[in-house]
Amino acid sequence: MKNGKPITLGEFELIRQIQQQAGTAEHLLLGIGDDCAIQRQATDQELLISTDLLIEGVHFDLRWTSLEDLGRKAVAVNLSDIAAMGGTPLSLFLGVGCPQRLSSDDLQQFSRGFLSEAAKYSAVLAGGDTCRSPGPLLISVTVQGCCARGRAIRRSGAAVGDAIYVSGTLGDSALALQQLQRGEVPLRELASRHHTPQARIALGAQLAKQRLASAMLDVSDGLLGDLGHIADQSSVGAVIELNRLPLSTAFRAVLAQNPQLIDLALTGGEDYELLFTSKAQDLEQQADLSPGVTRIGSITAAAGIQCRWPDQSLYQCERGGFDHFA
Ligand code: ADP
Ligand code: MG
Repeated sequence: MKNGKPITLGEFELIRQIQQQAGTAEHLLLGIGDDCAIQRQATDQELLISTDLLIEGVHFDLRWTSLEDLGRKAVAVNLSDIAAMGGTPLSLFLGVGCPQRLSSDDLQQFSRGFLSEAAKYSAVLAGGDTCRSPGPLLISVTVQGCCARGRAIRRSGAAVGDAIYVSGTLGDSALALQQLQRGEVPLRELASRHHTPQARIALGAQLAKQRLASAMLDVSDGLLGDLGHIADQSSVGAVIELNRLPLSTAFRAVLAQNPQLIDLALTGGEDYELLFTSKAQDLEQQADLSPGVTRIGSITAAAGIQCRWPDQSLYQCERGGFDHFA
């Protein structure tokens, strides 16, 4: 809450404003305003559906997150799941549980961020629900997307000998959050990775189209935990070569002062990069993949995930990945 104003618009006026700004799309026969949205279905496509819940105090903190950035991030983290299947986003559905202390101004900022981020990925807001929350701000986003029949990339397809790749860089978001929680001001390039992550839609779709990935997911809970999901579901193990982890210049600068921070790159959450396995061993050289990918290890027959230094010594990570119920 910026100015302490209570909501001055009623529920229906708010929804009407969102409706006016939501726009439309070719696949959407009927959007916001009726009991259901109506979508056209392409018969050669499969429907991808995913939901994310964002709860104030658990997933975000309004002391350092603006409502507009929160709106952007709510879209990006949700669309990241579509990217992780190699799909293309179509429609978004937005549930908001809004505490009394937020003003209609705050909510308008949120929807401004939400809608502008959705537009970036050609996703359209097709419906939702709006209620009062007696407690924290609560945001639920559901996305529907599509992919060509049989082409969605699951977590279960990794095979022994596959190379492991990750897009972009790891650990920046977790480092920014750690600094924010300590009352420090993160460098802008770190802060933006935390506040306004990007969904790797184009990369995911390209990997699916060219059949380059055998298994894939997005890194939301930390590399080790998320690679663990691929390993479990594919019944394989993995080796990570620590010297190959892709780290930003800003991250490397802090790591040089504190080597233990390598754990943030391994287990810090909210990178929203794509982690995938592939038969192809040379994707680092494939210049048309954007953002570029880094080969960080290989899939093994032996169960478990090992982190290795170049001298072959093993590293035991002290930090666990994020688990809401741990
Ligand atoms: P109902 O009582 O049928 O649930 P609502 O009054 O809750 O209808 O919603 C009216 C319309 O506005 C519906 O099309 C719904 O999908 C849409 N809607 C409500 N809240 C939101 C929101 N936060 N974002 C997008 N659409 C919304
Ligand atoms: Mg409703």
